[in-house]
Amino acid sequence: KAEDQPIQAFVIPHSHMDVGWVYTIQESMHAYAANVYSSVTEELSKVKERRFIAVEQEFFRLWWDTVASDSQKKQVRQLVKEGRLEFIIGGQVMHDEAVTDLDDQILQLTEGHGFLYETFGVRPRFSWHVDPFGASAATPVLFALAGFNAHLISRVDYDLKDGMQRDKKLQFVWRGSPSLKAQQEIFTHTMDQFSYCTPSQLPFSNSSGFYWNGVALFPNPPKDGVYPNMSLPVTKETIQPYAKTMVENIKRRAAWFRTNHVLWPWGCDKQFYNSSVQFGNMDPLMKYINQNSKEFGVTVRYATLGEYFQSVHQTNLTWDVRGSEDFLPYSTEPYQAWTGFYASRNVLKGAARRASSLLHAAETLFTRYRISFPDGPVAKDWALDKLRALRWAVSEVQHHDGITGTESPKVAEMYTQHLMEAMMGVEELLAALFLLPHNPAFSSVDEGLEQHVIIYNPLAWNITTLVNMTVAFPSAAVYDDGGQPVPAQIQRSARSNASYDLFVVVELGGLQNRKYAIRFSETACSEQPGCARMYAAKGVAFERRSVKNWGKKGRRLLPVLSECYKLMFDQDTNLLHSVTYLQEKRRVRVTQDFWEYNANGDVKAGPISDNYIFSTNGSAVRAYKAVQMEIIPGKIVTEVRQYFYRWDSDKDYAYSITTRVPKCFGAAPQCQRLEQTYSLGPLRLNTEVVLRTASSLKNNQTLYTDDNGYQMMRRTYRKFSNNTLARICVSIFIFRRFSSRCVQSSRRVMLHRRLWNNLAWNLGYNLTLNDSSVVRPTLWMVLGSVSETSKLHQRAAIELQHRPVVEPGLSSPVSPVVLPPNLHLLSLSVPGWNYSSAHDVHLSKNLRSEPDFDRVLLRIMHLFEEGEDPELSKPVTINLKEVLQGVGEVKVLEERSLTGTWDIARLQRWTWKTGRDHKDFTVTISPKEVRTFFVHFSSGSL
Ligand SMILES: [Zn+2]
Repeated sequence: KAEDQPIQAFVIPHSHMDVGWVYTIQESMHAYAANVYSSVTEELSKVKERRFIAVEQEFFRLWWDTVASDSQKKQVRQLVKEGRLEFIIGGQVMHDEAVTDLDDQILQLTEGHGFLYETFGVRPRFSWHVDPFGASAATPVLFALAGFNAHLISRVDYDLKDGMQRDKKLQFVWRGSPSLKAQQEIFTHTMDQFSYCTPSQLPFSNSSGFYWNGVALFPNPPKDGVYPNMSLPVTKETIQPYAKTMVENIKRRAAWFRTNHVLWPWGCDKQFYNSSVQFGNMDPLMKYINQNSKEFGVTVRYATLGEYFQSVHQTNLTWDVRGSEDFLPYSTEPYQAWTGFYASRNVLKGAARRASSLLHAAETLFTRYRISFPDGPVAKDWALDKLRALRWAVSEVQHHDGITGTESPKVAEMYTQHLMEAMMGVEELLAALFLLPHNPAFSSVDEGLEQHVIIYNPLAWNITTLVNMTVAFPSAAVYDDGGQPVPAQIQRSARSNASYDLFVVVELGGLQNRKYAIRFSETACSEQPGCARMYAAKGVAFERRSVKNWGKKGRRLLPVLSECYKLMFDQDTNLLHSVTYLQEKRRVRVTQDFWEYNANGDVKAGPISDNYIFSTNGSAVRAYKAVQMEIIPGKIVTEVRQYFYRWDSDKDYAYSITTRVPKCFGAAPQCQRLEQTYSLGPLRLNTEVVLRTASSLKNNQTLYTDDNGYQMMRRTYRKFSNNTLARICVSIFIFRRFSSRCVQSSRRVMLHRRLWNNLAWNLGYNLTLNDSSVVRPTLWMVLGSVSETSKLHQRAAIELQHRPVVEPGLSSPVSPVVLPPNLHLLSLSVPGWNYSSAHDVHLSKNLRSEPDFDRVLLRIMHLFEEGEDPELSKPVTINLKEVLQGVGEVKVLEERSLTGTWDIARLQRWTWKTGRDHKDFTVTISPKEVRTFFVHFSSGSL
């Protein structure tokens, strides 16, 4: 750093606008969000030095589509063109980084980018992840793939941040993927301890910070325009202390960075709804500082984030490299960790996951339909509306106060309602698509005791799997589309005495649907030819076992066998005793049960647990006094139901585990997955419940969890000087996935929580988690050697997320679309954007008109890391014309950036990379690559 040069502060005006959290989107639009864009547009147009960064696209789009006048739109276009209004991130929301899935992160980014490119011809180049609770290593990789030049994060472990500030290491180049390495590295700026809000202390005044417009007021803006907590205006009397305060803060921060540039975020949550007051005070203050810059040693200017990064980039310094390590979990002080949110509002998390799967299935189905029947009876605009509504709802809930469960109850309801409505719309679309276009006369699907269903495989792999349907009859026979009987099993449902679980073995090609007929009967199946393949399973109940009589255990073991495993259950406890992996003849002692943390809800009695934070004073206690077991041996699947009772004599159980042990039925991977569904709740108040899996595996306190379903992260036990407990908590958060080989000797996965505390801040915002719902998460457990399970977990995770879709209806078979086993079809959709693929052409034409139905977005991901598996980790070469033959005749293939807005050959990030050519439709995909294409099929009208 040139010490003699003045410090240059980049004042970046911004408003952090949570898409949800305490207030609904409608409430936020009404109280402040619409005013942010109306008033910023006006104020920026007045003075050319002023700047603003727009971050969350959902609010901007709502303003643009429902509020903005034609003249405001014209002004915005001008401001964007001149670079004074800059779109940052460009996603619908600022997504959470800990509990979101890769495909949903990409979706919400793509949604926002498509809109921005269509509307303004701009492509965001920078991120501003100022509020997500911790930072994953997968997110910077996605941003690099989307063409970003720099990434910005803020919430990292406080202890770590202290050290980074001290050592001037807040900025580095992040190589988030160990396989993609430098190819997708990205410059990353970590915000200093002041984070994204302007410093809030003014030594000379009672009011806070540099917020002249005060604090947003709900539900209505004040009529007289006077908001609470407005800062003293900048006047002759106050300008000197204001300048002194600002300069001192800038200098303090400059000491933590290697260059003379200081990023000075000006704003906070819900700011700039009255920007004339904001800029009207800041303009003279900045002018004053610049007039006295010699004395102050500081110059100030308004800037966009891009302008700040540009200046840092131009210094040409050499930066430290960070590998694929992430910044999770996040802690703000000793003895707590922000891991509570991993299990907050699991009902919402489940709804978001289901909506995402449904969207994926519907996108692929509509794309196939659109190419096969361009003039089919399903109206394309209607279909696109339904898909867009679900894209929007799934994007919205990825917000860092959405899927995290850290929002108020009414906002959780809003997300749920948006998801449910959009899912219903897409169900209507599926129903329409499954009625044959060349057989429109067909109306009634069901006739009496015969039901026809379509089962669709949304993955581009051939699969043999179990489909589970809840039915009303005790007996049935199932036939495939060729009229042949299909192996199936029926049994009384665990959930209700009046219904039955029907398991059907289905064989489906990639992206293929098949029709099945089910013939029900009230009496035992005997007369139909299909009955020979139908197995009616009957349960065996075991006596309830009380914990207090556990004296002797392990004397009477009961085996449950499949082709892959031998599970032993202990009849003295009714708990799992051990699992033997038959292929390697390895037995592992495994016991599973439920334990509870009794959370502290009183701030006077120590650290509290809340929506965000998991904090504990004591250890977990056993959550039950007795266990009952029922085993339903079957030919397709054997089900083990364990019920955990809080007291010996309780009638209703508190928790349950349903373990499904599938038979192989010809497909080996199937039997390696032990499926477990848990039932938890309603919990008692201030309870956090964990599934405890104790095993005899030795792992040196190391476990592996994933980042966003993209990559496995190795987590070793680390002792930090100030923060021991937060590290221990690593083993207690809920993982979306974990590698089976890494089961700790006793691993606890938090599955549900119900909390209430008396912290004034939580009560004020109604952010306590008095969640009385019942949750039913499902996990797959795979056991085996490292080399064996390394082949399996990537695909298993995707198959668990994207299960076959069962819909009533009729359809004729379609040709399969099959990718090699190490490639996953992330997207196949008709985005509907109207723009030219060539940037120059796009900019010269009239933007945003009718949707384009002929541009198909295809995204493929390599599932393996370099060196993970001798075969599957190899780069794969495929001919996309051949692969997509089943969909239609590929005419044109263009490779694009992750969100589709860049021609990959022309994309030059600040770290250079070169493009590739696909004239022959042949593409080689390397480990962990995500490649995005626009495909034009000849059946569509080009
Ligand atoms: Zn936020």
